[in-house]
Amino acid sequence: MKNIEDWKKAGRLTAEAREFGKTMVKTGASLLKVTEKIEKEIYNLGGKPAFPVQISVNEIAAHYNPSNNDTYVFKAGDLVKLDLGVHINGCIGDTAITIDLGNNGELVAASEYALKEALKVVRPGVKIGEIGRIIGESIIEKGFKPVKNLSGHEIKEYEEHAGLTIPNFDNKDGTKLKQGQIIAIEPFATDGVGFVDEGKDSEIYKAVRQKNTRDNIARDVLMKALVDYKNLPFAKRWLIEKFPEFKVNYALRLLEKEEILYRYNQLVERTRGLVSQAEHTVLVEDIPIILTKQKNI
Ligand code: MN
Ligand code: MN
Repeated sequence: MKNIEDWKKAGRLTAEAREFGKTMVKTGASLLKVTEKIEKEIYNLGGKPAFPVQISVNEIAAHYNPSNNDTYVFKAGDLVKLDLGVHINGCIGDTAITIDLGNNGELVAASEYALKEALKVVRPGVKIGEIGRIIGESIIEKGFKPVKNLSGHEIKEYEEHAGLTIPNFDNKDGTKLKQGQIIAIEPFATDGVGFVDEGKDSEIYKAVRQKNTRDNIARDVLMKALVDYKNLPFAKRWLIEKFPEFKVNYALRLLEKEEILYRYNQLVERTRGLVSQAEHTVLVEDIPIILTKQKNI
């Protein structure tokens, strides 16, 4: 792989940003401020966010990114997923941890254990259904359920979700991992039924279709977003730093309607169960390299 150093660097910086972020998730802290500090730290470290930092609390499994006027404050009892990514020239690290502000240590341990067990079998030739089986069984062994309609994924340059889907249960997929692939494995464990549904609109967008818009304001905003984020997800907040807010609101609404941008939804556990998550990005080799460990060499 020609740019392996960029992949390794991205993974290392992702790990550093994660470790920086987890110390700030505390009862009484503002979710918006913590998000902004981590996103700033990613630039300070020399990377760029591969997607908006996501801090999803309790039954929200994924895709929560605060608006610029979000008022959420972490409270005692919260179960907080911190999911973040850093890219170096499009090479992406993707990692997540769960921070327990209550008494849900066992649920946190279940997703961590599933990730650890799955990482043990990653190598060229292993079937991805087998990875899913190990994740699912590990979570059940700990007394919880895997979230079946959330999954890990392959990662390619400037493509956060590319190619393979790495399931969190045995979906019988016989596709085999190949040497040199980069995959994110991300078990989600819950005390609910193990499915998520789309919830409220998130503040996360992504360019999905190459198409021109005739509207001048929308075109300005779109061009800036494409130059800065290419096909990677971005936050509305980031654009509000570059354009007046009314302009961003107008442009995003229009671009979403014209299906040039896709707006993500929050993903919420169907029965409002608590959800924990653990994630690493791995380079598939005979001796796989966990890229999102702080020392990935
Ligand atoms: Mn992630
Ligand atoms: Mn991921």
